[in-house]
Amino acid sequence: MRILLTNDDGIAARGLTCLANSLQELGDVWIVAPDREQSAASHALTLHDPLRVTQHGKQRFSVSGTPTDCVLLAVRGIGGVLEHRPDLVVAGINHGPNMGDDVTYSGTVAAAFEGRLLGLPAVAFSNVTWKSEFLDASARVAKQVVTMMLRQGLPRELLLNVNIPDLAFEQIRGFKITALGRRVYRDEIVSKVDPRGRAYYWIGGDPPVWEPEETSDFGAVSTGHVSITPLNTNWTDHAALQTLRSWDVESAWQPAVRPEG
Ligand code: MN
Repeated sequence: MRILLTNDDGIAARGLTCLANSLQELGDVWIVAPDREQSAASHALTLHDPLRVTQHGKQRFSVSGTPTDCVLLAVRGIGGVLEHRPDLVVAGINHGPNMGDDVTYSGTVAAAFEGRLLGLPAVAFSNVTWKSEFLDASARVAKQVVTMMLRQGLPRELLLNVNIPDLAFEQIRGFKITALGRRVYRDEIVSKVDPRGRAYYWIGGDPPVWEPEETSDFGAVSTGHVSITPLNTNWTDHAALQTLRSWDVESAWQPAVRPEG
């Protein structure tokens, strides 16, 4: 089995190496990761700059682009990155949480999303602290999740978003299936003045805060559990289709006025 491993923290990140070491026991790991940090790159695709691929080892490459670029190049087999199409896409282990509303910013989740759009089972892993101390424990957890996922199989539009508390393996209390939580938005933009007297702004002052919900991803990790959230690549809100149909859009349509004569 060929596993494509990527991340958004860049090829030098410790989380990537720990995960590669752990997944090696399950299959043939190929690393294709951004050449620098791309956190919060979301699902961006590089369209207006050339992409360069650099080989760092037999099955280890960096790309001068986003996590999505990495997955696209690797799965399409461009630049001799992979000899064959991978069987699975794994992203992480991210340094920092990817929970709740924040998943829309995440380059880690987007990499898994891209893998799923390309038809491959995909999973994103995050350790919920930025100064992750127990990445080896997280990597052990990740191996368990990948094993379970391969055994069960994933429906076509489903990917998994996994958040792991930064705890020693013995301290982790097990898995919980969760829904995305809700972020509490606070004043998170720092404004300062640069040495030349011009104002500048810096996004992301304090760590994010979530609403306390037991069934959410945040709820699970706050009690020492590993959160597994199913995400769907089809963003249609099926429950809302009925509501929108009740708007009677056909009679609301205002046609172009025909010129007279
Ligand atoms: Mn990151």
